[in-house]
Amino acid sequence: MRQYARAKSENPEALLFFRMGDFYELFFDDAKEASRLLEITLTARGDGIPMAGVPVRAVGGYLRRLVAMGRRIAICEQMEDPKFAKGIVERAVVRVVTPGTLTDEGDLDGARNNYLLAALPGREAIGLAWVDVSTGEFRLADVTIDALADELARIEPAEVLVARSFVEARPDVAKLLLEAAPGRIHDVPEWRFDEDGARRDLCAHYGVGDLGGYGLDGAGPSLGAAGAVFHYLSETQKTALPHLAPPRLHRAQDHLVLDRTTLRCLEIVANTRDGGRDGTLLSVVDRTRTSMGARLLRAWLTAPMTDLAAILARQDAVEELARSALVRGEVRDRLGDVQDMERLCARVATSRASPRDLVALARSLAQVPLVREALAGAESAGLAAARDRAEPLADLRDEIERTIREDAPIATQDGGIVRAGRSPELDEIRGLSGDAKRYLAELQAREIERTGIASLRVGYTSNFGYAIEVTHAQSAKVPADYQRRQTLKNVERYVTPELKEYEAKVISADERSRALEEEIFLACRAAAAREIPRLQATAAALAEIDAVAALAETAASRGWTRPLVDDSGVLFVKQGRHPVLEQQSGAEPFVPNDADLDADAARAIVLTGPNMAGKSTYIRHVALIAILAHTGSFVPAESARIGLVDRVFARVGASDDLSRGRSTFMVEMMETANILHHATRRSLVVLDEVGRGTSTYDGVALAWAITEHLATETRCRTLFATHYHELTELPSSGPELGRAVRNCRVAVREWGDRVVFLRRIEEGGTDRSYGIHVARLAGLPPAVIERARGVLADFESAGGPRAAAPGALPVEPREARQLSLFAAPPDPVLAELRALDVDRLQPVEALVLLARWKSESAARLGTTGFRAQAKEPMS
Ligand code: ADP
Ligand code: MG
Repeated sequence: MRQYARAKSENPEALLFFRMGDFYELFFDDAKEASRLLEITLTARGDGIPMAGVPVRAVGGYLRRLVAMGRRIAICEQMEDPKFAKGIVERAVVRVVTPGTLTDEGDLDGARNNYLLAALPGREAIGLAWVDVSTGEFRLADVTIDALADELARIEPAEVLVARSFVEARPDVAKLLLEAAPGRIHDVPEWRFDEDGARRDLCAHYGVGDLGGYGLDGAGPSLGAAGAVFHYLSETQKTALPHLAPPRLHRAQDHLVLDRTTLRCLEIVANTRDGGRDGTLLSVVDRTRTSMGARLLRAWLTAPMTDLAAILARQDAVEELARSALVRGEVRDRLGDVQDMERLCARVATSRASPRDLVALARSLAQVPLVREALAGAESAGLAAARDRAEPLADLRDEIERTIREDAPIATQDGGIVRAGRSPELDEIRGLSGDAKRYLAELQAREIERTGIASLRVGYTSNFGYAIEVTHAQSAKVPADYQRRQTLKNVERYVTPELKEYEAKVISADERSRALEEEIFLACRAAAAREIPRLQATAAALAEIDAVAALAETAASRGWTRPLVDDSGVLFVKQGRHPVLEQQSGAEPFVPNDADLDADAARAIVLTGPNMAGKSTYIRHVALIAILAHTGSFVPAESARIGLVDRVFARVGASDDLSRGRSTFMVEMMETANILHHATRRSLVVLDEVGRGTSTYDGVALAWAITEHLATETRCRTLFATHYHELTELPSSGPELGRAVRNCRVAVREWGDRVVFLRRIEEGGTDRSYGIHVARLAGLPPAVIERARGVLADFESAGGPRAAAPGALPVEPREARQLSLFAAPPDPVLAELRALDVDRLQPVEALVLLARWKSESAARLGTTGFRAQAKEPMS
C-alpha cells in the first residue's frame, strides 16, 4: 500500500492500474470509478479498502474504453520477477495512457492521425503545437483567433493541453478549445509553456545548438506550446522518443485554406449526415493500400497546395502512374503487403514493439526492393525521388528474418520467438529441455511396465509441477518409493526423487531459454531502433507513393483528366461531374456540366432553378474540382483550367445550428461575414441559398448585396445558387455588374403542368420558382396542389411579390396583401352579433350566448393556423 500511495501521488489525475500478478488492481476511488465506467465488480480487501481488477491479458480493451471516455490511466508494473524478489516486488509507473498519446495499433484508427495539441494564447497569435506520437509527426503554428477554430477542425486533436491561468484570461480561446476536444482538455502548469525551457529541451533532444535549422526562428508562442507538448510526452511515455521528427512550422499561406464550414459543407473528409466517411470526397479518392498512405491523403485533401510548382510536380507523378496500368498495379500490389511502418517505428522507438511487430517490419521492408524495381523507370521527379528515399534496409531486414520466427507471438516473455539456428546457446538449452521431456515420456512407459498400472500418467500442473497420477482404484499397486503429495477427487499424485530431479532440469531449461529468447529479441529490437531515421524516411516515401498511386488509380478507373493549373484567374470546367454523385447507382445517369468563370471578367454566376433541380450539386462539384486540382489530383471533367485559389469558402444557408444555441439565420450571417472579411481576389466562394433563413424580402436584399459586394469589391470567383429568382436582375442593374455577373439556370422541360429536370446548366435566368411542381413530386394531396395553383394565379394577376431591383422592392408589407387574399368567409359569431337585438335580451340568455361563442371560437382556431402557414407561398 505504501508503494501504491507513492505511485498514486505521482499521478493524481490518472486511474492507477497497479500490477499484482495476473491482474491490474485499482483501489479506493479509482476502484469505484472503474467499476462504474467498465462495469466490473467492485470488491473490498480484508481491511475494507475498495478494490476492482482487470486481467492483464484483457487490459487492452479496458484501456481503449477508458481512453475513449477521455480518461487517463497510469500503468504501474512489477519491475522484477516476483520469484526472485527479496521482500516486496519493486513496482513503478511505466507509462501513462492518455487519449492523445496512444501508440498501440489496436487503440488507433489507421486512416487517421491521433494528435496531442497544446495551445498557448499570445498577445497577437495563439501558439499551437501538435504531435502524433504514434507516427512521430510534430508541427507548430501561430494562428490568429479568427483562424483558430478552422485550424482545430482540421487537426481534430484527441487531447488538448493548456495552462488554466492562460486560458482563463482568454475565454474566447478557451471556448474554441472546449468545442474542439470536449472532455479531453488537460490542465498543465504554466511553466511548462516557458519558451526558453522549450528551446533548451528541444535542442537537447535533437542534439542541435539552436532551432533555426528547423525554420523555427520565426515561431511565436507556438514554441512555448511545443515545449509543453514535449514535456508531456516525456512524462507520459517515460522513454526516450528517438522517433519524434523535428518540429515543423505549418503556415496557412502555404496551403489552400478550407475552413471548417467549408470542409463540412463540401463533405471533404466527413459527411454531413453522421460525420462518417460515406459520400465524402476522401471516400472517392482513397484507394490507398497502406494506413500511412491513407493518413497522408487525408492531410492532402484538408490542406491542399498553393505552390504552383509543387502542384505541377504532384500532377506529373499522378499522371505517370495513371498512364501506366502495369506499373501502378505492381506498385499497389507491393504496397498491399506493407504494414503501418510509421506506427511500427513509433513502437520500436518507445520499446513497445512486439516480436510480431518486428516480423511485420521485416515483411514491409521486403516490399521495398520490389516497389523500387517497379518504379525503376519512373520519369517524374516526384516518383523518382520518393523511390530513391525508400531504403530496403537489407541488413536490418536480414537480421530480423534470421532471428524472429514468422509466427512469433505478441508477448515477449513466453518464448516461441527466436528461430532455431540463431543462437547455439539457445539451441543447446532447447535441446536439454527437449531431452528431458522425452525422458519423462520414457519414464511414464517404464513405470507403467513396472507397476502394471496402465492408466498411470506423468503430468504437469502449473502450481504443482511434474507428478505421477494414479487413480484411486489402482492406488494399492503403487510401489513403496512413490511419495504421495496430493489427493484429488479421482486421482492421487505422487513424486519420486528421480522425477523431481528431471523436473528441475526442465523448468530451469525452459526458464533459461525464455530469458535468452527475450534477450535476443530485445537486441534485435534495439538494432531496429538504431535505424529509426532511415525507417521513417522509407515509411514517408512509401506513404507518398501510395497516396499518389491512389490518385492515379482513381483517375484511371474513373476517366478523370489532368487539369491545367496556372496563375490565371480562370475557373473553366468542361463537362464536369460531381465526384461522389457521378457514381451514384440510381436510375438517373449523371449529367455533366460546364463552368466558366474568370476573376478578370465574368467572375460570378447566379444560378437559379427549381428546388431539387441540381443547383447545389452543380456549385459543389465546381468547388470540389478546384480543390482536387490543388491536391495535384486529376478531376472528373473532360477538361479543366483552374487558376490558383487561395481559399475556398462554401456556405449553405439556414444550416441547422440550433444545438449550439444560435439561431440559424444568425449563424448563416456570421459565416457570410467571415467570407466578406477574408475572401480575396484569389478566393473561390460558393454560396448555396444564403439568405434563406429570414423573410423573403430581407433574404433577397441580403443575397443581392452580398453577391454585389463579392462581384465588384472582392472581385473573386463566386457561384451563388438561389431559388430567389429576383437575383437574376443583378446583371442588368449596372454596367459593372453586367460584366461581372452572369445568370445561369437549370434547364427544365414542361410537359403540360408537369416539369422534368434536365440537370443541364444553361445561360439565362429563371422567372419562376416551380415550388408547386416540387410539392406535387413530394406527394402533397391533389386538392392542396390545386388550391395552391389558384392562390398563385391570384398572386400573379395582382403583380406578385417579384422585385426588379432592391430599390424597386414594393414597400407594401406582404402580410397586408396576404390578409386580403386569405380573408376568411364572414365570421358566424360576428354575423350573429350583428343580428342580435340587445334590448330584448335576458341577462341569462346573454350569458349562454357568450359561453357558446367562446367555445365556438376556440374550435375555429385551426383556420388561423392555416393563415400562418400560407405566409410564404413563393418559397
Ligand atoms: P437543388 O440544390 O437545386 O435543390 P440538388 O443539387 O440538391 O438540387 O439536386 C437534387 C438531386 O438531383 C441530387 O440529389 C441528385 O440526385 C440529382 N442531381 C443533381 N444534379 C444532377 C446531375 N447533374 N445529374 C444527375 N442527377 C443530378
Ligand atoms: Mg440546393
